[in-house]
Amino acid sequence: MRYTAIVIGAGPAGSTAARSLAQAGFPVLLVEKEVMPRIKPCGGALTHRTLSLLPRGFEAQIKESPTQWTFQGAHGSPVTLERNEPYCHIVERRYFDQFLATASEAAGAQVHDGEAVLGVETDDRGAVVITASSRYRADYVIAADGARGPTAKAVGFARPRMGAAMEAEVLVSPTLYQRYQGRVEIHIGQYPWGYAWVIPRNSMLNIGVGSFRARQFPLKERFYAFCQDILGDIPVAPLAHPLPYRLTFADPIRERVLFCGDAAGYMDAFSAEGIYSALRSGALAAQAVANAAQGHAPLTSYRDRLYQEFWPSLKSAVKMGLIFYPLAAFWSDLFRNNQALLSDYLDVAQGRISYHVLTRHAERLLMSRRIFSR
Ligand SMILES: Cc1cc2nc3c(=O)[nH]c(=O)nc-3n(C[C@H](O)[C@H](O)[C@H](O)COP(=O)(O)OP(=O)(O)OC[C@H]3O[C@@H](n4cnc5c(N)ncnc54)[C@H](O)[C@@H]3O)c2cc1C
Repeated sequence: MRYTAIVIGAGPAGSTAARSLAQAGFPVLLVEKEVMPRIKPCGGALTHRTLSLLPRGFEAQIKESPTQWTFQGAHGSPVTLERNEPYCHIVERRYFDQFLATASEAAGAQVHDGEAVLGVETDDRGAVVITASSRYRADYVIAADGARGPTAKAVGFARPRMGAAMEAEVLVSPTLYQRYQGRVEIHIGQYPWGYAWVIPRNSMLNIGVGSFRARQFPLKERFYAFCQDILGDIPVAPLAHPLPYRLTFADPIRERVLFCGDAAGYMDAFSAEGIYSALRSGALAAQAVANAAQGHAPLTSYRDRLYQEFWPSLKSAVKMGLIFYPLAAFWSDLFRNNQALLSDYLDVAQGRISYHVLTRHAERLLMSRRIFSR
């Protein structure tokens, strides 16, 4: 059988791409190397803008909707802000991703999990996706195989920059859980080019440390020290995973292969939010394939759409990172001492304002005499 598209990887990007194409009536195959449900190291925090991109029934996947947010800067005691509405929504990635893959199957996609893609070949007429048991043919390939997937190398797509994170899911006592229930805690200012977090979910704490320049500090040591601070002697079984991001826009198309999500490096280079980008770029890749298959628009419409609609916010995250992280202790003190700025920071996380507005407010504050006369 020849497919219109083969999607590689059943994370949020791949399952969304497969679902969109199947809903539009195209024959599509989704190939995932792991057996679902599979583990994916991730805090599982969904921002508000993410919710509108999810298939029907997603509400059952949300395990916590914290309204409190604690900011621990480089110095001083932590500051907690509370909102009337949730700051984010927490899912458990293994079941959330399974839910998305099942939704693509229900829409009509063929899903082969437990089947790793070993290679991809393309020519003028289409593409061949190679696994241990088969050679599948398609008109197009959507590469959603994450930060470590094989497609980039197979078709000569330059890998994004890689930060790294280490995290663990820890079952804690009801007393300790209660301390974090309804609240996400972020420690920023002490970790070079990154931060540490505690995210509560279902009696478990997701605890982690990540950095966009992980080679500059001992990630493992800092992770264990952070766990000791939060958990005491409770044992942890951490997992490490790359944080793929880009400083400049890269053409996401190689012949008939479209890259999306982490495989393309579409992670927010300040906060490491990646689920929204994965869902949105997966949907846009599917739309471009559908248009190209019907002769409505060239495949390059994907690149143009991403550049116009999507890249500006990723670019402003890059700028925010370049401004904030080299002077993280200074900025974290400034944020900590100004509730209005801290509230703006939360507004960015909630998707109400852009990083651009946040940095303008910070700039204004810096220029005001109030700051310098402190
Ligand atoms: C520690 C950590 C915490 C994070 N926390 C958050 C958070 O709280 N909120 C947020 O928005 N983002 C977070 N992120 C980022 C987020 O996890 C990713 O951006 C997101 O998972 C990207 O989705 P994706 O579909 O592109 O890739 P993935 O979710 O990585 O999916 C890729 C899929 O491809 C499959 N695959 C790989 N190789 C092959 C192959 N050869 N053949 C077939 N399939 C293959 C993989 O098994 C995987 O299922 C975090 C990241 C890390 C590392």
